[in-house]
Amino acid sequence: MYCAGCGNEVGDSDAFCGRCGRPLAGGPPQMAIDGKDEAVALVLGAIVPGLGIMYSGRFREGMSYLIAAALFAVASFAVLLHVGTDVAAMEAFSGILLLTAMATLALHLFAAYAGYGYAKEYNEALRSEGGPPW
Ligand SMILES: [Zn+2]
Repeated sequence: MYCAGCGNEVGDSDAFCGRCGRPLAGGPPQMAIDGKDEAVALVLGAIVPGLGIMYSGRFREGMSYLIAAALFAVASFAVLLHVGTDVAAMEAFSGILLLTAMATLALHLFAAYAGYGYAKEYNEALRSEGGPPW
């Protein structure tokens, strides 16, 4: 066969034209699906819980993390609103607020790490099976 770019004669299994470097149809198939950047998944998940998981292709799972984080935030806000400037109420609710803050932090870290893990799993499946795992 001949190169479509320069007309140079090339072998049927050549990936590139030897003269002009143009990629040839007879070469090995290009990876059709792009891999996921694991660092991006981690950073996205650290900024918004669940975003890294969504980035790794598990949209509904990432969405449930996001909703859970939003519920925690709304609950904390409702408690703060209820407490207001009442010092006695502040003391009564401080434990709940602390627990909610810790739960939110844990959720954040876990979601970021899960997104990172899914990105890794996604890339491994692309490499070994040639397609996404989900
Ligand atoms: Zn050529």
